Amino acid sequence: QSDKIAENLRRCLKEQGLEEEVKVLMTGCFGFCEQGPVVKVAPDNTFYVKVTPEDAEEIVAEHIIKGRKVDRLLFVDPETAEHVADSKHMEFYKKQMRIALRNCGFIDPENLSEYVARDGYLALGQILESMTPQQVVDVMKKSGLRGRGGGGFPTGLKWEFASKYQDDQKYVICNADEGDPGAFMDRSILEGDPHSIVEAMAICGYAIGASKGMVYIRAEYPLAVKRLRKAIEDAREAGLLGSNILGSDFAFDIEIRYGAGAFVCGEETGLIHSMEGERGEPTSKPPFPAEKGFWGKPSNVNNVETFANVPVIFLKGADWFASIGTEKSKGTKVFALAGKVNNVGLVEVPMGTTLREVIFDIGGGIRGGKKFKAVQTGGPSGGCLTAKHLDTPIDFDNLIAAGSMMGSGGMIVMDEDNCMVSVAKFYLEFTVEESCGKCTPCRVGNKRMHEILEKITSGKGTEADLKLLKDLALIIKDTSLCGLGQTAPNPVLSTLDNFRDEYEAHVREKR
Ligand code: SF4
Repeated sequence: QSDKIAENLRRCLKEQGLEEEVKVLMTGCFGFCEQGPVVKVAPDNTFYVKVTPEDAEEIVAEHIIKGRKVDRLLFVDPETAEHVADSKHMEFYKKQMRIALRNCGFIDPENLSEYVARDGYLALGQILESMTPQQVVDVMKKSGLRGRGGGGFPTGLKWEFASKYQDDQKYVICNADEGDPGAFMDRSILEGDPHSIVEAMAICGYAIGASKGMVYIRAEYPLAVKRLRKAIEDAREAGLLGSNILGSDFAFDIEIRYGAGAFVCGEETGLIHSMEGERGEPTSKPPFPAEKGFWGKPSNVNNVETFANVPVIFLKGADWFASIGTEKSKGTKVFALAGKVNNVGLVEVPMGTTLREVIFDIGGGIRGGKKFKAVQTGGPSGGCLTAKHLDTPIDFDNLIAAGSMMGSGGMIVMDEDNCMVSVAKFYLEFTVEESCGKCTPCRVGNKRMHEILEKITSGKGTEADLKLLKDLALIIKDTSLCGLGQTAPNPVLSTLDNFRDEYEAHVREKR
């Protein structure tokens, strides 16, 4: 659809002899999925929503030629019922702070010059000119950035561990194997701003003493792969990858490896095995990848969103970054807001923003005026939070304390019509399917839990099943080998805690 819109806009401009004066550029995603496809007209920042290919003619004839905005394509504020022309004035964007998504929707991701025009590769240049690797690690530690892939481990510390191990070869690995159902932030960053990842990986390579970078990306992301590949080639051609980068004696290059979409390959040891051509099964740690990673060499693994923050930390300073967010969770977090909410999309907010602000201000509240029931954060590894958690400031620790987790940023909203037992069953179905089968608690235990849920939802469950469900969940959490198994029971445990009445209602309806 977007390609067709761009094609029609270009054709209409050409017919009017304006093809040199007015350029049509493809950008990455603006995040406001609910209202897409979006056409933004610069420099007046007019934001047209739900555009169709047929609208191209009117946009050119009215806006470009006569300077009159096309009202019917402007966003309509649901509160005031007024047209809103500029994204800055939309509730969806007002409370957002875009750091990781800073360039998405603003640049042509396939044009290196546009990234450079927004200070791209400036951080890398400054680092190579004036900083030692240890100073780079120190800035990262001071920034307080924590891994955005789910674990929340301090990034600077991770870089420091990898920097301490000496070897003839080290690796920087970018985990682009985004597997949570409903999560698409990494894909959006790679589609909208691939150079930021290339630059960040080079910075990491310099800090830890690695000359090779690997991006592990799922093959189901063809546009992200295409744009990333182009970014790597263009950076190489411009002397931003390869040997003697920017005239320094630092050498670094990046290769792409493709994943086949297994959720467990998001776990770093599973990911490394998959990159080596082995089964994507996790192994117990230690040794951590910082010591023995890809091909047994010291490796640092970070996910896409984590890397996207890195260049900005050096441009604006660790103190600036650390001033955003909460005491122990600095910066922003990107969430894929989905489910029964009015404004579905990709949102980036400072850590510490409440669930209420995300769901009701940015998300525009519950679809169809229905009542909010729950929000699932952290994807299949997370839990379901309720109305009593709406004013909880979102950060790594608060979400865990509330019985869920940040995960990679999936946020699925449920309304009064959702059966929470079915929701738990849905997520468990996913983890049963995605379990690699290596360890018994996860392989067998999750299957048994799923059978119990099946029994309960089909009206054949008993009170004893509820107890068994909880006991099994706790054992699986404690005894599974990797994060997938350790977190798989979370949706069941959190719904048992917060929505026990729904489980009991199923049991009472026993046939
Ligand atoms: Fe595999 Fe599950 Fe065990 Fe992880 S917990 S190693 S996914 S079987």
